[in-house]
Amino acid sequence: MAILSYLSFRNIQNENYLIQKNFDESRVSLQKELEETLEKEQNKIFQETKTASLFLYEQPKSLLEFGNVANFKDVVGVEAMFLYNNGALIYPDISSKLLSSSKKFPNSTPNLAEIALYQGELANDNLQETLFSREMLAQNPLLSPKEQILNILGLVRIAYKSKDYGEALRLLRILETKSKLQGFLHSDLTRSINLLHFEILVKMKKHQDAEDYCLSVLNHFLQDSTIEDIPSTRFFFETAFTQILSFEDLKQEKREAFWNLRSNFNRQLGYTEILMHNQELFQNILYNESSSKAGILFKSDGDVTLFKMSYPILSGNQVVIAKIDETAFQNRIIDKLRNATQRWSNVPFSITDTRDSLLLGSIPNSASIISQSSFTSFPSWQLSLYEKDIGEIRKESRHRMFLMYGLLFFSLITVIFGSFFMLRFFVQEHKLLAMKANFLSSVSHELKTPLTSIKMFAEMMARGRVMKVEKIQEYSGLINKEASRLENLIGAILNYTRMEHGTGAFKWEKLDFSVCAKKVFEAVEDIGVEKGLSFKTHFDPNVYVMGDYTALYSLAQNLIENAIKYTNAPGDIEIKVYNEDDRAVFSVIDTGVGIPSSEQKNIFNDFYRVGDEMTRSTKGSGLGLAIVKRVAETHKATISLTSKPGKGSNFTVRFRKVD
Ligand code: ADP
Repeated sequence: MAILSYLSFRNIQNENYLIQKNFDESRVSLQKELEETLEKEQNKIFQETKTASLFLYEQPKSLLEFGNVANFKDVVGVEAMFLYNNGALIYPDISSKLLSSSKKFPNSTPNLAEIALYQGELANDNLQETLFSREMLAQNPLLSPKEQILNILGLVRIAYKSKDYGEALRLLRILETKSKLQGFLHSDLTRSINLLHFEILVKMKKHQDAEDYCLSVLNHFLQDSTIEDIPSTRFFFETAFTQILSFEDLKQEKREAFWNLRSNFNRQLGYTEILMHNQELFQNILYNESSSKAGILFKSDGDVTLFKMSYPILSGNQVVIAKIDETAFQNRIIDKLRNATQRWSNVPFSITDTRDSLLLGSIPNSASIISQSSFTSFPSWQLSLYEKDIGEIRKESRHRMFLMYGLLFFSLITVIFGSFFMLRFFVQEHKLLAMKANFLSSVSHELKTPLTSIKMFAEMMARGRVMKVEKIQEYSGLINKEASRLENLIGAILNYTRMEHGTGAFKWEKLDFSVCAKKVFEAVEDIGVEKGLSFKTHFDPNVYVMGDYTALYSLAQNLIENAIKYTNAPGDIEIKVYNEDDRAVFSVIDTGVGIPSSEQKNIFNDFYRVGDEMTRSTKGSGLGLAIVKRVAETHKATISLTSKPGKGSNFTVRFRKVD
């Protein structure tokens, strides 16, 4: 015990050492794997961006092309791509002229009157009066252009409300065509006027005019050098395109063209917006020389991250600047890192971003940090590795020890059980072999005994020594008796082999068991009576069962013959066949030698004979009850045995009754 404890202690110490060593190695491998995975995935994104940027050359440039299908390739993790050639922006095409212009009106907030006008709050009676008076004043040269615009807008609103669409359009056209007046409209309001115009056309069911109008506004927008308010522009076109696409009378090819136009234009507009909001960052990255070998440069202002790739495709110097979609980019890389860390689940680590939020792994409460470093290819993420909890190491080593001892124990149990079963198997095999040998010797002995007598009497008669007629009669009677004994024995063996080969040879029929048992009884009664036994029988009529006649005959014969064989005179044998509920019952009860309870389960085995004096002096093969058992099994019958040595036995077989 002491030795075992000492060994376990030593073993645990060794385990602790091994686990610590293993842990140190794992940590190094994990760090390496993370670095490599991150770099690999990032390079993949660069590569995909490079491929996708080739499609930028083919993007539509003019209003005419916007309606065409444009192949565009998205990259997971990249929100927008911008293509430059020799410093000039090539995609998105519209951006360059928009960027170069400047706003005419520094104050971009619409005044209250403008908002009120557009929102239709002037529709009450009082204000209507005011507006009528303004209409008269609208052309008044004494009014300022701004006042004139407000007056006209008010009138448009009234006409629109009273469904006088023709009048509303006429007034709107005044506003739109008079560039002098238009110059005073805030860009936001310009789009509102456009939208109102468009909607009036739709209301008037002038779909063709509405489409043309939308395209003319778009054309105007593309040619205009003044910068517009992009959100309201986007809102106008989004609303107009959606409505046009819902026109039922729109032809299929036109629908497709509008569909393409919407997605192409939207993309350009969205990209332009990004460009406008981050002009400084774009300029900065565009003119900065890249330090990396691959020609890739990252720039971030905290909110927006761009990367630049320079690569010559055509003549000149092409540059692609991509804006990273922070969430998608992060998810894509973190997903890969998560897969990579699975192999090292036992190493505590964490990956955090610049805002210290946890991206992957976990920050343990108590363990101290072993190392902290930024990723070489992605410096804004930090990798921290922690000391492994000593408790954890102990737990792990204990776990391993348990596993080891468990395995040992399990193997031991397997060996013990295995040996036990092998032994049992061998003993059984041996018994079976002994039984078969015993059977063969007893069968040959049994066969020999009558044969010797037959031979002896036959020889005596053949030599002519027996002259007297009585003697000849006696001897031939003996030969006959021995021959039938032989016949019986061979019959039993044949019977047994027949049962052993199963039910295939059976002929199933409905038969009265009483008739069958009675036949057997009549055949063997004499032997019993001769021996000095008395019989009591009871055969109920109509005890029907489904079965094979020969097999059932042999079952009854074996049981009755056994009763006669193993009962000494004077003795009684009772044979009964009767119906009981749904069963047909056959009982053979004797007052014979009985069977010890230790032998009762064995006697039904093949070749088994009880080893007492009585059995030895009685002829038999040990097959009788084996046949009984087999017949009962194939007929789905049950056998019950009650027996007491010296008192007698009761064998009862219960069959399923048939009507
Ligand atoms: P056997 O040919 O030896 O009779 P069985 O299979 O018919 O073979 O019987 C097996 C053994 O069961 C017999 O050797 C005998 O010892 C015992 N036995 C069978 N029937 C009886 C009975 N009615 N009374 C006492 N012993 C019996």
